[in-house]
Amino acid sequence: MVDRLVNSEANARRIATVENCFGANGQPLAIPGRVLVGEGVVTKMCRKKPKTRQFFLFNDILVYGNIVMDKKKYNKQHIIPLEEVKLENLEDDGILKNGWLIRTPTKSFAVYAATATEKTEWMAHINKCVEDLLKKTGKKPSLEHAAVWIPDAEASICMHCRKTQFTVLNRRHHCRKCGAVVCNPCSSKKFLLPAQSSKPLRVCLSCYDTLTKARANQDESTVSAKLNIPPSNQDSSGEDDSEDENDDGGKIGNLDKGLDNISIDEKPTFYGDTAEAPSDNSQQTPCSSDQPTSSDTCASNTCSDSVATCSDSAYDAGSCDTSTCDAGTSNE
Ligand SMILES: [Zn+2]
Ligand SMILES: [Zn+2]
Repeated sequence: MVDRLVNSEANARRIATVENCFGANGQPLAIPGRVLVGEGVVTKMCRKKPKTRQFFLFNDILVYGNIVMDKKKYNKQHIIPLEEVKLENLEDDGILKNGWLIRTPTKSFAVYAATATEKTEWMAHINKCVEDLLKKTGKKPSLEHAAVWIPDAEASICMHCRKTQFTVLNRRHHCRKCGAVVCNPCSSKKFLLPAQSSKPLRVCLSCYDTLTKARANQDESTVSAKLNIPPSNQDSSGEDDSEDENDDGGKIGNLDKGLDNISIDEKPTFYGDTAEAPSDNSQQTPCSSDQPTSSDTCASNTCSDSVATCSDSAYDAGSCDTSTCDAGTSNE
């Protein structure tokens, strides 16, 4: 589907544009064989509330970041290797519509598209990329995935003891095994979850019991098989307990499922089946009318214009005030 884009100039330019938009906040993204398959705005369920994020689907990684300036500057870049990704459908729930789970061994979260069509497009393209990548590398899909954290606002009391009320002093913690919101005494134990981190992680008392029993029953071979994970998986978004800091204290008792202010009316773009696709008649109309000779002008210029989203900004990454950019994103 996207193979013909591999060595294309348009693809190289798009990837350079993405790198440019992340500036010093991001990793280099241009590597041989990599294709930018699509991009768009998606709402990501974060710990405290849903937030809009810019997503970039490549043929081997999924990249997302905070939108500092629409189409010009992003920060807080996250890179997810696609071979670890598994998607799960989410049913609509109130205003949370068109969602699905992105699950990986180290981190799992819910995202929401603006429309059902966009959801279908995103899921189909991501699944196709994962499938193609696994086929190419011969790797097996990941079987173990990190728990999806239950948003803070959904628990005003501890989900384990059902007693502790969360306040500024009684802070919320997340069990790294089941994702439940629990109080400190109910999550005082840690357990080694090798898929997520090389260090033992905070788990709730129920999960600690279950895990301890399971370990006792487990034979050596299973354990060593599960420990056999690539080094890139060692880092974990969950191992830093600072994520348990809850600056809002009890104030978020009110369910705040409101979306960000950033509008998400922009449709995602998938380059493999839009920009240069010859089957797209609308792209060809200008040339087919009375100037057949200008067909290649149309195919390159017209189509590439629409994707030169931020290459002209020459954005000065150095001018970005880190404290501003990081504002409100501490709970990721
Ligand atoms: Zn508790
Ligand atoms: Zn648990």
